[in-house]
Amino acid sequence: MHVTADLHIHSTASDGDLTPGALVELAAAKGLAAISLTDHDTLSGARTALEFARRHSVRIIPGIEISAEYERGMLHILGYFPSFPEGLEDALAQVQEARRNRLPRIIAKLNSLGIMIAEADVIRIAGDAQIGRPHIAKALLKKGYVRTFDEAFLEYLGKGKRAYVEKEKMTWQKAVSLIGRHGGLPVLAHPSTLGLTDTGLKDFIGELSGAGLAGIEVHYPDHSREHITLYDRIARESGLVITGGTDFHGPGRNEVSPGDHGIDSDLLRIFSHRLGMPGIC
Ligand code: AMP
Ligand code: FE
Ligand code: FE
Ligand code: ZN
Repeated sequence: MHVTADLHIHSTASDGDLTPGALVELAAAKGLAAISLTDHDTLSGARTALEFARRHSVRIIPGIEISAEYERGMLHILGYFPSFPEGLEDALAQVQEARRNRLPRIIAKLNSLGIMIAEADVIRIAGDAQIGRPHIAKALLKKGYVRTFDEAFLEYLGKGKRAYVEKEKMTWQKAVSLIGRHGGLPVLAHPSTLGLTDTGLKDFIGELSGAGLAGIEVHYPDHSREHITLYDRIARESGLVITGGTDFHGPGRNEVSPGDHGIDSDLLRIFSHRLGMPGIC
């Protein structure tokens, strides 16, 4: 597949390592027609990228990634918008606050394990980003408490590990309707992280569709050939749009570069038409 759009990228507005401007430069250098910045719980990176992209041929699709309550695995809903949605960020204030509230609780757990890092150490790294565990991982790395970024998750920050603290999330029903209500396309991110069987997944996607889901992220670094075939089939059978992207967080974070995964010009045409943002390809 010749990728022309990477619809899943994180910037320094959330837990990515590169600024929105640097990401636009990178996408332009790769010759991508469009990218979407899908930061966790914020549109501010996408907004900056849009300003920056005026000087480039790359189109910016405003996007977001919202984590939803889900016991079995990880359930993330991506949202794509034809233009900046009025009022969506106000509606996200609660999940943004949940991120800030979790930080001192994780720090307290780390301190009780003899790891002397302070909230300020993490905030210095995060700047005005939506604070996430990756910022804490970087602080641990900087202070020499772990040797690698991944070790921070394996030892302390990952689900069920020693300094893990659950973050308050919204239900998937709310995430899907919030995106839809603001004129966006709600898309199921990386279905492989749900931990469902093939039939379980098909049933769940049926439920999500009933609530307004518009698409499935079929193309993704962790998806095997079999995953892609299955998700592609479910999407086509259910009348859902096919999306894809790298989930790029920075060089060396998941061994991909923007544009390594995504959608081709045919899928982009269908996607942008559904989005109400034609003429991207
Ligand atoms: P948070 O949004 O604070 O819950 O942090 C989740 C983010 O941490 C994800 O979006 C990834 O960027 C990163 N992440 C989650 N699990 C891991 C892991 N096991 N190894 C490395 N990074 C991870
Ligand atoms: Fe992330
Ligand atoms: Fe995700
Ligand atoms: Zn992501």
